[in-house]
Amino acid sequence: MADLREVLENNRLWAERMRAQDSAFFERLASIQTPRFLWIGCSDSRVPANQITGLEPGEVFVHRNVANVVVHTDLNCLSVMQFAVDVLRVRDIIVCGHYGCGGVQAALEGQRLGLVDNWLRHVEDVRDAHAEAMAGVKGAEARWDRLCELNVIEQVLHVSQTTVLREAWSRGQEIAVHGWIYAIRDGRLRDLHVGADSPAGAARAYTEALRPGVAQR
Ligand SMILES: [Zn+2]
Repeated sequence: MADLREVLENNRLWAERMRAQDSAFFERLASIQTPRFLWIGCSDSRVPANQITGLEPGEVFVHRNVANVVVHTDLNCLSVMQFAVDVLRVRDIIVCGHYGCGGVQAALEGQRLGLVDNWLRHVEDVRDAHAEAMAGVKGAEARWDRLCELNVIEQVLHVSQTTVLREAWSRGQEIAVHGWIYAIRDGRLRDLHVGADSPAGAARAYTEALRPGVAQR
């Protein structure tokens, strides 16, 4: 495991390598930021947005929190979204969850971990809202996987219902929201097919994604 000195040394070597590949790389980044993507993902250290997508600095604007939750009163997430949509004019918002999410597991099992329980209550709400569908999923692992998926589907709907996205769509801005899930075990991203580029499309995609058999592996 890297210690702090190694982390700083890694950074020095990385900066040298980037400059060797492209001498104007940092100068260009310093002058302008024009990412195409906004990533809303989990804080989990195993799901780093840039690395798993092969995107370079400057290509993705990132918001991460425990269990990739989008709450309508979370000023942090809303501010990130508003800045990304209104100022940076990103074209795609990706809500990315992951299988094996500890936050989702805690919500599924009603574990008590401390302050974070209050945050994870939002995922418990997802669990409770889909209690009937969850009851039909057999096996602890499959239930955990499904709640990870349902959480993404639900958070995509939340993104599409924010004032930020509604206003962008109503003024004709071209922007879409997508729901993906990452598998730590094989490093692959999967599309949960809940993407939309309009309020009506978002409602339709949400209903469609919840049909039994859809979006399940
Ligand atoms: Zn997680």
